Amino acid sequence: MAEHEDFIIAALLEEGRLSAEAVDKARRAAPDKRSGVCDALVEQGAVTRRDLALVRAQICEVPFVDLEQFQIDFANTARVPKPTAESLQAMPLFIVGAPGAEVATVGMANPLDLRAVDQLRRVLRIEVETVLCEPTALRSLIERAYAMSGQGETRAGAGAEAFADATTGREPIVAAVNQVLAQAVERGASDIHLGPDETTLHLRFRIDGELLPQQGPGLSAHLGIVQRLKVMANLDLTQSRRPQDGKFRFSHNGRAVDVRLSVIPTVSGENVVMRLLTSGSAIRGFAELGIPADGVATLDRVLDEPHGMLLVTGPTGSGKTTTLYTCVKKLNQPGLNVMTIEDPVEIRMPLVRQVQVHTEIGMTFAGALRSILRQDPDVVMVGEIRDDETARIAVQAALTGHLVLSSLHTNDACGAIPRLRDFGCPPFAINASVLAIVAQRLVRRVCRDCAKPDQPAPSLMKHFGAAAAGGGFVSGTGCARCASSGYAGRVGVYEVLELDSNMQTAIENNAPLPQIRQAARRGGFAPMWLDGINKCRMGLSTPAEIARVISVHGEDALAAIEPDAVTPSTSSQPGTGVRLSA
Ligand SMILES: [Zn+2]
Repeated sequence: MAEHEDFIIAALLEEGRLSAEAVDKARRAAPDKRSGVCDALVEQGAVTRRDLALVRAQICEVPFVDLEQFQIDFANTARVPKPTAESLQAMPLFIVGAPGAEVATVGMANPLDLRAVDQLRRVLRIEVETVLCEPTALRSLIERAYAMSGQGETRAGAGAEAFADATTGREPIVAAVNQVLAQAVERGASDIHLGPDETTLHLRFRIDGELLPQQGPGLSAHLGIVQRLKVMANLDLTQSRRPQDGKFRFSHNGRAVDVRLSVIPTVSGENVVMRLLTSGSAIRGFAELGIPADGVATLDRVLDEPHGMLLVTGPTGSGKTTTLYTCVKKLNQPGLNVMTIEDPVEIRMPLVRQVQVHTEIGMTFAGALRSILRQDPDVVMVGEIRDDETARIAVQAALTGHLVLSSLHTNDACGAIPRLRDFGCPPFAINASVLAIVAQRLVRRVCRDCAKPDQPAPSLMKHFGAAAAGGGFVSGTGCARCASSGYAGRVGVYEVLELDSNMQTAIENNAPLPQIRQAARRGGFAPMWLDGINKCRMGLSTPAEIARVISVHGEDALAAIEPDAVTPSTSSQPGTGVRLSA
C-alpha cells in the first residue's frame, strides 16, 4: 500500500494537482511516514477522494466509475452474497449480454487484487471486467444495495437461492419493487410510503406507528416503479392525473401478503402508499390483545347478547380494526350469519360475508347496511360510523334483533355518547341499543433487551396521582434491538365501559360529557390511563409514554380512583407478537 501511495502522490505532483508543501505537511501528520499519507492529504483538503481514485485508476489502467449518481441494479445483489461483496470490496455494477455469455462489470476498490477477481468469477460464474471505484463510495453502495435487498448476514450462506423468491423478476425495476416489498415485510412494516419531490424519491416504512425513512431507489426509478405497481394492482397505466386504488398479492418466503395500493398525483409526481394487510390467522383473543381481565369479561358477556350494539372508539391507528376483527372471529360460528361492511376489507375471514364499500357506485356504509339487513344477518360489523344516516340505521338494526359492532372516532369511551347524539340518535335509542363501549390506544412497548428498573420524574408521578405511587416501573436504556430508543413494538391500552343504570340516567338527562364521565366512574369504570399505568407496572410501557398518548381528565379523575383499583392483577398479560392494525 505504501508503494502504491508513492505512485499516486508522484502522479498527483506531476499533474500539478498537489503541491510539494502539502505532501510534506501530510507526511508529518500521517501516523506512519510511509502510509496513511493519502488519508492525511484528504483530511487537509489538499485533494479529494475522487481525485485519488481517478489517479489510481490511471495507474492501474482500468476505467474509473463515479458512484455519485449511480443507480443500483438490485438484481445484482442476489448474485453475490453480502459477506463476499464486503470482504472483497466489490460489487457488480452492470451485467450485460445474452444468458450464457454474460459479462459483469464489477466495481472494486482495488482492481489489481487478482485473487479477489478470481473469487468473484467463481461466485458469479460469468466473465468479469473490473473498474475502479472510490472506496468510501463503494462501501456505502454495498451497504445500501444489501439493505434495500433485505439480504441479511444470516442468509448469506444460502446465497442466491434463498433470495430467489423475492427477486423473481430480472429487470431492475421489478427487482427494486420486490426488494422494497420484501424488506417492508421483514421489518414488520404496516405501510410503505413512496413519494417523489423535486430531487429525491423518498421511501418510508411505518413500523410500530412511526414513519421511518429508508434507503430506497433513486428518483429516476420512480416512474418505472409506479408503472410496475399499477400493473400488479390492475390499475389504469395511462392514467396518472387522478387517484387510483387497487390491491395485489405477493409472495415472500413462501408467505402470501396482501397489499392495498393507493396512488395519488402530487405536484412532483405520483405518490404511492401501500398498506400491508395482516392475515386472519394473526387475530387471536381479547386477552392476547392486552384487554384487562374485567374488560374481557364484559366483552364476553356483551357478545353473548342476541342484539344490541358494541362500539370501539379511538383515533386512526389505535388498533380499533383489530379489536373488531377479534369480536367477529369470536362470533364466527356456523349457527350465526355474520356480515360485515368495511372500507376497505382488511382481513378476509372464512364464512363471514364481507362487503366492501364503493362510494362511487352508491355502495356507502348506509346503503350497504340497508341491503345487508335484508340478508337476515345475526351479527353485523360496520367498519365505522361516520355519518347520521349510518348511525341511525345501525341503532335501528341493534334495536330490531341484530348484534351490531362498529367503531367511532372519539377520544374516549364516554365520548361515544355525545357523538351518537350529534348523529341524531335520541337518548332512549342510545340507552336501548348500546351495550358497551371500548376505547383504546397503542403505546410503545419497553424494549425487553434493555429494560431496567426506573423511577419516573416527580412531575409524572404527580400527574398520575395515587395510581403511580409505590414505584415498580421500568424503562429501556437503549440497545441495538430498539435502535437506542428504549422501545420496541407496541401494546394496546384499553377501557371498557358497560352502560349501567347510572349511565342510562345521565344519558336520558342529556348530561354533558363531564357528567357522563362522573356517572361512569361511580359505576366503577377504570379509565384507559389506569390500564396504562397497570401495564407500566407489568414492565410493558412507561408513565412518560402513557402521559404522551393518553389524557387524564381533570383532578376529579384522580380523586375518584380508589387505591385498590390500582392493582396489576386486574390486567391480563398481553400476548407477544400480535400485529395490531389501525
Ligand atoms: Zn433496547
